Amino acid sequence: MGQLLDGQLLADLRTGKLKESVNKLKAGGIIPCFCVINIGNDPSSQIYLKTKKRKADEIGIVQKVYQLPENETQADLLALIDRLNADQKVDGIMIQLPAPKQINLNQALERIDPEKDVDCLTPSNVGRLWRGDHFVEPATAHGILALLDHYQLNLQGQNVVIIGRSSIVGKPLAALMLERDATVSILHAKTQNLAAYTKRADILVSAAGQAGMITAKLVKKDAIVIDVGINRQNGKTVGDVDFDAVRQKAKYLTPVPGGIGPLTVESLMEQVVNLTRRKNGR
Ligand code: NAD
Repeated sequence: MGQLLDGQLLADLRTGKLKESVNKLKAGGIIPCFCVINIGNDPSSQIYLKTKKRKADEIGIVQKVYQLPENETQADLLALIDRLNADQKVDGIMIQLPAPKQINLNQALERIDPEKDVDCLTPSNVGRLWRGDHFVEPATAHGILALLDHYQLNLQGQNVVIIGRSSIVGKPLAALMLERDATVSILHAKTQNLAAYTKRADILVSAAGQAGMITAKLVKKDAIVIDVGINRQNGKTVGDVDFDAVRQKAKYLTPVPGGIGPLTVESLMEQVVNLTRRKNGR
């Protein structure tokens, strides 16, 4: 039976260390300030905002939420980003996704000062990520690497298959894993014969958002399986992985909940603290 990779445990450990870093900054008169722009009333976003706020409070980061109406204009959004960019007290900025359809998201993301780009989504930071000299890392990808490192699971030469090609999970994770000398394939909804790839994966990461999609048949024996998916099924939160069946075959796997989710929130706060340190030359 596969060993659990306990994301919650690691997130708690890292939170403790992060608190110490923030206390040191505070002793020098610096309080990290993180601004989240939320446009509209997406119910999942409201939950994510609360989760972030709890974590920020726990660590000692000031989190400000800028709640904008569902019909917010592009011009007003850009004006807010300009104000936050110019505000010396602000260390990190992110736009909570999804944004309403009238918003040109790429244009808004491009407007964020790369030095305050907590999600690593500005073009220059995405470029730095692929060039391998980044100063900020997307939270989910950062959390996954932290988990593999914690359990001393080496990526060098490993055959990694990532399901999902989003800008926030699949693509940045591929960049960071390539940097660690893994051989990476990115699969997506139009991939033909998914099983041909997944069955050869030493490390299989699923970020498709499809409950139960990863059956035991798709998994190589003794693989490491990372479940990023968060889905609601029969009133419960489940991942993409058919957990009980896959556990019989994998060597290691992450649970949902308690796997990548808590690490993502914690990693996001790490990015805020890193950007604060960088801004202040610490
Ligand atoms: P997304 O919708 O932007 O991307 C989903 C990707 O999966 C797409 O590239 C799509 O092509 C691919 N996909 C969908 N169905 C597929 C299928 N049947 N076969 C192959 N590929 C398929 O989503 P996202 O924002 O990247 O998030 C993905 C999932 O991860 C969601 O469930 C989301 O809630 C979850 N998520 C979790 C965390 C966390 O902290 N655990 C963080 C971010 C996202």
